[in-house]
Amino acid sequence: MRDRKNQNISGFSRRSFAGAIAGTSAAVTLAAQQQPAAPANPNTVAPQQPRNGPPPEVEPFAAPIEFTRRDVAPRVKPFPMTQVRVTGGVFKEAEDANRGYMSRLSADRLLYNFRQNAGLDLKGAEPLGGWERPADGKHGTELRGHFTGHFLSASANLYASAGDKEAKAKADYMVAELAKVQEKLGGGYLSAFPMELFDRLDTLSGKPRPAGPPQPGAPALPWAPFYTIHKIFAGMLDMYTLAGNAQALEIAKGMGNWADHWSVSIPEEHMQQILETEYGGIAESLYNLAAITNDDRYAKAGDRFTKKRFVNPLALRRDELRGLHVNTHVPQVIAAARRYEISGDLRFHDVADYFFGEVSAARSYVTGGTSNGELWQTEPRRLAAELKRSTSTEECCCSYNMMKLTRHLYSWNPDPKYFDYFERTLLNERIGTIRLDKGYTQYYSSLTPGAWKTFNSEDQAFWCCTGTGVEEYGKLNDSIYWHDDRGLFVNLYIPSDLDWREKGLKLRQETKFPDDHTTSVTVVAADKPVQTAIRLRIPSWTSAARVSLNGRALEATAEPGSYLTLDRTWKTGDRIDLEMPMRLTVESMPDDPTLQAFLYGPLVLAGDLGNEGLTEALIIGPNGPALNRPRPGAAQVNPNQPPAVPAIEIPTFHAAGSDPASWIKPADKPLTFRTVGQKRDVALSPFNRMFDRRYSVYWEVS
Ligand SMILES: [Zn+2]
Repeated sequence: MRDRKNQNISGFSRRSFAGAIAGTSAAVTLAAQQQPAAPANPNTVAPQQPRNGPPPEVEPFAAPIEFTRRDVAPRVKPFPMTQVRVTGGVFKEAEDANRGYMSRLSADRLLYNFRQNAGLDLKGAEPLGGWERPADGKHGTELRGHFTGHFLSASANLYASAGDKEAKAKADYMVAELAKVQEKLGGGYLSAFPMELFDRLDTLSGKPRPAGPPQPGAPALPWAPFYTIHKIFAGMLDMYTLAGNAQALEIAKGMGNWADHWSVSIPEEHMQQILETEYGGIAESLYNLAAITNDDRYAKAGDRFTKKRFVNPLALRRDELRGLHVNTHVPQVIAAARRYEISGDLRFHDVADYFFGEVSAARSYVTGGTSNGELWQTEPRRLAAELKRSTSTEECCCSYNMMKLTRHLYSWNPDPKYFDYFERTLLNERIGTIRLDKGYTQYYSSLTPGAWKTFNSEDQAFWCCTGTGVEEYGKLNDSIYWHDDRGLFVNLYIPSDLDWREKGLKLRQETKFPDDHTTSVTVVAADKPVQTAIRLRIPSWTSAARVSLNGRALEATAEPGSYLTLDRTWKTGDRIDLEMPMRLTVESMPDDPTLQAFLYGPLVLAGDLGNEGLTEALIIGPNGPALNRPRPGAAQVNPNQPPAVPAIEIPTFHAAGSDPASWIKPADKPLTFRTVGQKRDVALSPFNRMFDRRYSVYWEVS
């Protein structure tokens, strides 16, 4: 995505506001562009603003990291998921599809590897496959147990976001059974694989790898044991905070004690070597546990998971991300954000602030997704080169974690630019990566021309992205509505109800967005008239937003990329209507202006290239499209791999003018288009609806 202007939080200019007053008899007053008051609690501090100016001259993390608890008060907070309900549209369909998939997975199957590791009764369950394959007879996968952790988080989400009691009951049973596993394993360590993986992690980290090909049976570094522990740890914390399961907190404390004990005596130099093996967001869970229990010991344990080689350049505002694995590093930045929030240590603030700005502006494709082959493979702003490295672009769990990080940054500084990014990624890289029939989700969302979408199978995948996938679609309500002392922010246009208990207001948002460019927010019940501000995000992609209040058009407009503020006394029946006209736009690759993608409003358009050669085996099961695999009959066909599809010609275009509307015309159905006057014309429609077809998002345009 390209850089966008950093906009102020109120979209009204004085002049346009005067127009608003003149244009309506309603008592609407302008919210001045004031900052929220400093927090009253002396133990909290106000959040830091983005920092400019020359970077520091010494490595910020050269000095020892010492933890002192000092909470940073957020400037804005999301409403708890229990107060918001998604009520319709593709968002509700995605939530329901995901719930269906989760309900088909049995608790005892999800517990299989844990019980086996502790020598407990397996209750006749059949093991899962894929990345949850057990150590039965042959070597099990070293990530086993990770998906069960995600499943607990996802169940807690479903309970908080939709009141799903069945999901909670199943997860409560799993927590109780996992408590037995933890007890059998000694009371702290809780895992589906033996401690031996951590012994190897300690012994082999920092050792040179033996020359030559790996010898069968020779000890090797484990895959990612702390990554896996983090998912189980986070699952327990989510079951406590979102689903009220007190036993889950006790289990999490045991896990925190174990992680503290394991790491406390390791010299820092060796710990830095250990952190070269993927470990993800374990520090985030330790910081969260420290915040919940008020026990700094857990935060000090979290600090040992600060990878200095990674965070020092970021705090110096240098992009040294090339060659790094994306999805182990985004969660480290989420941990840094959380560390700043409970300590006020600005070094951690700067890591998160710079990282988000760099990845969202210089390392993200038009859809909002990032990565190729799980890595950042090029220098920043070389996205055309990045795209061409392989077909494995946009690992979905990376987008999940970038969106999670966005929420932290927005809470410190409620700039609508964060929701321009969040919305772009939500609509193009998340909605559209779940199959609404089965709830299956994607691993790589390929942007290679001629690709197609692939999805996990029922019980033989359990990738990292399957795990973040089940979490994602259980919390589509978590970022729509935010608030501060002055009032409400409406950040996403999703059909939903908000129960604003603190004000005695019930609000309903009705919209077919993005199929339609309008939305309405109605006060369906007010206990008594309430004076407050309602701020509507005016997205950067719109051109001339229009708003009306109780059917009367306001003359005021707000700038795209800002908030339109309505500050008045609200009563039952008040209704705001917002129109956000969409238009066709072009985004070129920063390193190749002829490689272009087209958008209609926030929606990335994809061209339909047919379905030649596609079979169910090519769609359900593989982690990405088999475009690069050998053709049948070629020298090195692997019979276990699906056959490659026929090569197809990708059309190229000649732009008739700088405005894409001059040669891309509306087609017969809403949101669909067709090129005109090209050697071969193509039908374009939103990428998030492109299922079971071969497509292209980027095109060569002369
Ligand atoms: Zn993934």
